[in-house]
Amino acid sequence: MNFLLSDYQLSRQEEFRRFAEEEIDTGEHFPRGNLRKAAERGYMGLPLPEEWGGENEDFLTYILLIEEISRVCAATGAIIAVHTSVGSFPILYFGTGEQKERYLPALARGEMLGAFALTEERSGSDAAALASTAVAEEGGYRLNGSKMFITSGGEADIYTLFATIDRSLGYKGITAFLVEGNSPGLHAGKSEKKMGLNRSSTTELSMQDLFVPAENRLGEEGKGFYIALSLLDGGRIGIGAQGLGLARASIDYTTEHLKEVEKTGKKTEQAVSFALADLAARLEAARLLVYRAAVAKDSGEKCSREASMAKYYATDLAMEAASRCIDLCSYHGGKADNPLAGYFCDAKAPQIYEGTNQIQRIVVARELLNM
Ligand SMILES: Cc1cc2nc3c(=O)[nH]c(=O)nc-3n(C[C@H](O)[C@H](O)[C@H](O)COP(=O)(O)OP(=O)(O)OC[C@H]3O[C@@H](n4cnc5c(N)ncnc54)[C@H](O)[C@@H]3O)c2cc1C
Repeated sequence: MNFLLSDYQLSRQEEFRRFAEEEIDTGEHFPRGNLRKAAERGYMGLPLPEEWGGENEDFLTYILLIEEISRVCAATGAIIAVHTSVGSFPILYFGTGEQKERYLPALARGEMLGAFALTEERSGSDAAALASTAVAEEGGYRLNGSKMFITSGGEADIYTLFATIDRSLGYKGITAFLVEGNSPGLHAGKSEKKMGLNRSSTTELSMQDLFVPAENRLGEEGKGFYIALSLLDGGRIGIGAQGLGLARASIDYTTEHLKEVEKTGKKTEQAVSFALADLAARLEAARLLVYRAAVAKDSGEKCSREASMAKYYATDLAMEAASRCIDLCSYHGGKADNPLAGYFCDAKAPQIYEGTNQIQRIVVARELLNM
């Protein structure tokens, strides 16, 4: 029985699972092929409205897609999640008619890849402290500064990028811009070598006298911080779905492994089977949190607390499940070429991006305590 998903959503979930298992590759390079195949099926614009070239699906259905893809290739899941929730939604929610026409259909069809550039060397959790500047001049703005850890850096065609028009205004000076990937003055560094998710490029982005035409300012001057924050709830639910996919990958692998071991006549120790049962129960709990947050977002209610809970619970579980499953598979699980090692390494970044899991706890605690 599934009381959260409609028959239609269950059938789409099945379709996404088959797609991920049969079509998604787990190679080493930036997964252009996976993105192309996803685009052919409309998955790059799943929750975007039909009038802008999307599939008009609800957010929960999109979450099912991210979970299934992340179970097979977490990097592809991350790239699609960033492209959708913080690469395309800003234009849908805050863009002018002209900006929507120019970018949304291409993003929805996967002809353009979207990305989000907020973090800087000295402003991660404290996004309001960003130092990149935007100085108004005739016809637009001149941007200088640099961004760090940008997913799809150097690969994306369009960035929602944040800079301040006046640092003395604090968060009230932050302004959002739509910056095309091939703009003169925008340079992407080399992709960071990370402990996991290495198929997704993560780069520095530097702006050197980068000219952004006035028509590419997103929203009003000074509204960038509000724009960034209002995207994060959806983004965090997507990362929660990534956590679900990764946790499931570890648990599924370990379950199959233990069944194979049993076939050789070696009985699974009770301590091992109990640990697996605990992980399976926590996965169900995480799924309820993530789906609940998605339903809240679909209904238009404020869902910051739900999104934060879903993000930290599911991604912490992904990390713990990988670590625990390596223990449960013992020497077999500890081998570097075992998939569990990959899941373990991939699980770290989702605990950090779209707001670290410590920051998520602050969001929840603030709401509980009216802080
Ligand atoms: C793989 C990867 C991809 C990323 N992709 C993007 C992207 O596409 N776009 C983008 O803009 N950014 C991206 N980021 C950046 C990410 O969002 C930041 O790394 C994150 O917000 C944390 O910022 P920071 O690294 O500066 O850490 P800091 O903010 O310096 O935090 C360091 C530590 O202090 C803790 N901390 C900070 N403030 C508090 C507080 N008030 N209370 C308690 N603890 C606190 C943090 O939880 C953390 O443990 C990505 C990061 C990674 C690792």
